[in-house]
Amino acid sequence: MNTDFQGKKLLVIGGTSGIGLETARMVLNQGGKVVIVGKRRDKAESAQQQLSLSGEVTALTADLSRAEDVTQFLNTLDEKHKDIDLLLNAAGIFSPKAFLEHSESDYDQYQALNKALFFITQKVAANMIASGSAGAIVNIGSMWAKQAIAATPSSAYSMAKAGLHSLTQHLAMELASANIRVNAVSPAVVETPVYESFIPKADIPAALQGFNGFHPIGRIGTPQDVAEAISFLLSDKAAWVTGAIWDVDGGVMAGRNT
Ligand code: NAD
Repeated sequence: MNTDFQGKKLLVIGGTSGIGLETARMVLNQGGKVVIVGKRRDKAESAQQQLSLSGEVTALTADLSRAEDVTQFLNTLDEKHKDIDLLLNAAGIFSPKAFLEHSESDYDQYQALNKALFFITQKVAANMIASGSAGAIVNIGSMWAKQAIAATPSSAYSMAKAGLHSLTQHLAMELASANIRVNAVSPAVVETPVYESFIPKADIPAALQGFNGFHPIGRIGTPQDVAEAISFLLSDKAAWVTGAIWDVDGGVMAGRNT
């Protein structure tokens, strides 16, 4: 059995579905403990049920676009989870909209999530430094922060994700001397519930198949495809990697078929 995460505790912000949930499962299967956080209680409960088959998991609920929930969550981290070794910032929403149609409230949603991730990461890093333990942090950025796609206009989303890419580089620089590595992955189209905000759930598989040809590798991604790269970056196997923003995107940043 692979025991890469034996003795490690991972916090997944946005771990109740999709890429975050899959990474939590991989880390549990490799001997780690996991704390997951998501917005909806029903999804958190169902994720906890699934994951508890693989190991020790705590599931929490918070709406991180609300300042009160963030404050409460930061207190919970200090009270119960000062011993986090690994952090995955996976929480995100995606709702393509033309630049001229964006409202202040949907712009604020993206920025509020980034603000929450900023201060959660600050809390986790401060606790890692206080305990003198090495750590690894991975942010999920986005291919859309690197190139615009006509079919999915997403200026507000991408502005926030580009900020997360930049945060990755700055934290890699500032935290390296404390033995904390900070990296990001930048995925293209991955089949997850994130698309439920603008495509009916039942139609998602068929709708996303239309994007297969867009990727040089010829297919859209799975949560597992991205979680494998994240797990590697979280593990000691990536001991000499920090500040990287890896394209995990079926080749889209290299070139596009369509
Ligand atoms: P997902 O919808 O399955 O997961 C999103 C997670 O974020 C869930 O756990 C959800 O509860 C959490 N979340 C969202 N809003 C929240 C809030 N206000 N408070 C607390 N938690 C909140 O989607 P996914 O595709 O697995 O998304 C993971 C990350 O990957 C996101 O940051 C997304 O932007 C990014 N991403 C996804 C794709 C894709 O095609 N799926 C592509 C590029 C980047």
